[in-house]
Amino acid sequence: MKSPFDLDKMYIDFIDKKNDENYQERYVGNEGWYKASSAGFCSRKMYYETIMKLKPVDQPNNSSKMKMRLGTIFHDEIQGALKSLNSSELYIYNKSIDNVYIDNVSIDNVSINNKEKTITDSKKEMKVHVEGNIQIDDLNVRGHYDIVFEGSKVYLYDLKTIGSYPWRLKFGRDKKPDNSRAYPLQLGTYAIGIEEMFGRIDGMYLYYYNKDTSVTKTIEVPMIEKSKAYMYWDKINEEHAKGLPKLELGQSPEQQWACGYCPFKSVCKPDDYIKEQKSKGVWF
Ligand code: SF4
Repeated sequence: MKSPFDLDKMYIDFIDKKNDENYQERYVGNEGWYKASSAGFCSRKMYYETIMKLKPVDQPNNSSKMKMRLGTIFHDEIQGALKSLNSSELYIYNKSIDNVYIDNVSIDNVSINNKEKTITDSKKEMKVHVEGNIQIDDLNVRGHYDIVFEGSKVYLYDLKTIGSYPWRLKFGRDKKPDNSRAYPLQLGTYAIGIEEMFGRIDGMYLYYYNKDTSVTKTIEVPMIEKSKAYMYWDKINEEHAKGLPKLELGQSPEQQWACGYCPFKSVCKPDDYIKEQKSKGVWF
C-alpha cells in the first residue's frame, strides 16, 4: 500500500520554517557583516553574501537539509545539557590545568586552606556560555560561538558533526594530512571576539562527533590561529575592496566540492572555469 502520509515533505517544510526563523533572527539586518563561520571558505561567496548582500539563491537538496538539521539537533542537545548544570556541577567536569595544580599542592594547613579557598572560588566562578555573539568591528566580522567555559581561565569549544568518510580521512588508519584551514580559522576568529569580551582566552578545542558511530574526539587548536585569523580577515577586506574576486581554486572556491553546495552557484556560474581546470587536469 502506498504511504498515506508524506512524512518527507512534512519534515522538509518544518526544516525550511526553522531555517527561515534562524535566518531572520541571526542575519536579517546584519547582511553587511562577514560571518565568522565563513572563515577559510570561498572568498567569492563571501563577496556575494556580504558586499553585494545577496540572499541565498540555490537551495541545498533535501538530504543535505536533513543532514544539516541533525548537526543543529546535536548542538542543541549538548548546549542544553550544559545549560542544565549549575556552577558546582560544571566544576565536576572541569579537568583544567588549574585543578591538576590544586590536586598536587603539598598537604599542610596553609595549603589545605588555600586549596579549599581556591576550589570554592573556582566553583563560584565557573560559568558556561552557549551560542554567544561575537563582533569584531575593525574586521567587520560577527558570529556565534558554540561554548565558552569561563572560570579562572577561558576556554572555547566548537562542535562539529561529521560522517564516517570524512572521519576516516581525518582520524582513521589511512588519514590524509588535513589541509583544511577552515575550522582552525573559524576558532581563531571566535577567539579574537572572545578575548575582547572576556578579557582572555586560554585554549580552544574542536569537539567532533561521528554521526554514524557516535564516537567523539576532542582536538586542541593552537592559539596561533588567532593571529592567523586576524591576518586572514584583514586580507579578505583588502581583496573585496578591489571588487569581486576572480575564480581561482584554493581561494574561490577554497576546495573543489564547495561549488556543488554553494547557494550562489547560479549567480557565480563557475562551470566554464571548472571545465577549463578539468582540461588542464587540475580539477577532478
Ligand atoms: S560557485 Fe564556487 S566559486 Fe562560485 S561562489 Fe560558490 S563556491 Fe565560490
